[in-house]
Amino acid sequence: MSDTGTTSRVALVTGGSRGIGRATVRALARDGFDVAFCYRSDDEAARTLEKTGQEFGVQVVGTRVDVADGPAVRAWIEATEEQLGPIDAAVTAAGITRDNPLVLMEDEQWRQVLDTNLDGVYHVCRAVVFGMMKRRAGAIVNISSVAGVYGHGTQTNYSASKAGIIGFSRALAKETGRAGIRVNAVAPGFIDTDMVAAMNDKARKDALSTIPLRRMGTAEEVADLVAYLVSDKASYITGAVLQIDGGITI
Ligand code: NDP
Repeated sequence: MSDTGTTSRVALVTGGSRGIGRATVRALARDGFDVAFCYRSDDEAARTLEKTGQEFGVQVVGTRVDVADGPAVRAWIEATEEQLGPIDAAVTAAGITRDNPLVLMEDEQWRQVLDTNLDGVYHVCRAVVFGMMKRRAGAIVNISSVAGVYGHGTQTNYSASKAGIIGFSRALAKETGRAGIRVNAVAPGFIDTDMVAAMNDKARKDALSTIPLRRMGTAEEVADLVAYLVSDKASYITGAVLQIDGGITI
């Protein structure tokens, strides 16, 4: 229920405290969704984001949940449906990198990235899809990466997780289309968030020189694409992998 007393649609966003997830929470709140988001550690960022609800007259609720923890994700989603109502849209933005050339890759680096980026998507979609099927409506957007389409050196773990998200999303779109559910993947290129802030100046310069638009994207640009995909304006789009990358993959 929104602050104005009308029934809102409900959206779920993982990795909502920072970057693309945070911008997505704001975009969906702006579009009239009550939004439940999760994050792993940054309580302060989560509390400031919750205030977005007052700005847009909807509820925005943050919960600390590790998406790699299946039972915790299920409990979070059950609690969200009790508090806000059935979930209409789910966006999985939680993601991490642990880069290393494969020859130096540590098992822990491989596991952490797959557990968070790919298993996290499975846990969320597994928990929301039955309700969506019963209601014969729902939109899911999973955040992949151009690394999942083309591969990035020193990121075999990350590229595998993001390619996995594409296969998963397409399979789920086929499985659930007849139940009125749409599932899409978004594959961003370089987006100016904390995740790419770790790049050194030379790597950043080199990356920029290969982007036809000669700049990184913003989290808000990705969020607007996600907001479009979960909206009724995208009612005939499913199983798509939409790249938003300034042309870097041309
Ligand atoms: P950020 O590092 O800026 O933010 C990551 C968010 O995910 C944070 O809110 C973080 O929470 C949360 N998070 C991380 N691990 C977990 C976990 N185990 N459980 C719950 N939440 C978690 O990342 P970006 O915004 O840059 O990236 C968002 C998504 O977009 C990721 O999936 C990323 O792979 C993808 N992407 C990003 C690109 C880029 O250039 N930035 C390019 C292509 C894809 P907390 O702060 O509490 O730790």
